[in-house]
Amino acid sequence: MSDTGRDPSSSPDVTVVDHPLVRVKLTRLRDKTTPSGEFRRLVREIAMLMAFEATRTLATVIDRVETPMSGYEGKALAQPVIIAPILRAGLGLAEGMNSLLSDASTGHIGIYRNEETAEPQSYYLHLPPHVAEADVLVVDPMLATGGSAISAIGKLKEHGVTRIRFVCLVSCKTGIERLCAAHPDVPIFTAEIDPELNSRSYIVPGLGDAGDRYFGT
Ligand code: URA
Repeated sequence: MSDTGRDPSSSPDVTVVDHPLVRVKLTRLRDKTTPSGEFRRLVREIAMLMAFEATRTLATVIDRVETPMSGYEGKALAQPVIIAPILRAGLGLAEGMNSLLSDASTGHIGIYRNEETAEPQSYYLHLPPHVAEADVLVVDPMLATGGSAISAIGKLKEHGVTRIRFVCLVSCKTGIERLCAAHPDVPIFTAEIDPELNSRSYIVPGLGDAGDRYFGT
């Protein structure tokens, strides 16, 4: 339970993707002995599984096609999808999601965390022109203080985006509460919710610095 007395995992806006494959792969990801190559592969694989859940409620329209045998009334996505990684750690998640959502465009959101203040600093924003009509999946592996996610989603809203989902791998109660408070309309999808943040705003047990581990830096 958090300091506000609310259990974030019970919120209807928070989905914990509690699938055995996600848990097993996330455990390998957390292991500090997992080398970068395997870390990158695991991030991409978990991203695909997360994308499956995060897109479950996307609107569809009727799509009529001809099979070799007859006509068939199927479905197409109603709106274009944009995957918006928060740089740089979000890039791995975006790559994995793109292999499931091959028609999705990518919007890049450059935010780094000032290590002294833990405040988000915006340094880059490049969004596809149709961003306001799209369903946007904002992706960042770690939801720690919530600062980067809140700032990134704020920038998307400034550009007219109304349908936003946030996808991360590891979150914590503080980040979830802050993000829910700042953007209550944005559903959160996380693989696990960890118990705490340390004094440097890293998630514990977490997996360390996701960007450094992904890029081997
Ligand atoms: N960013 C990371 O990469 N790891 C954390 O634990 C928190 C923020």
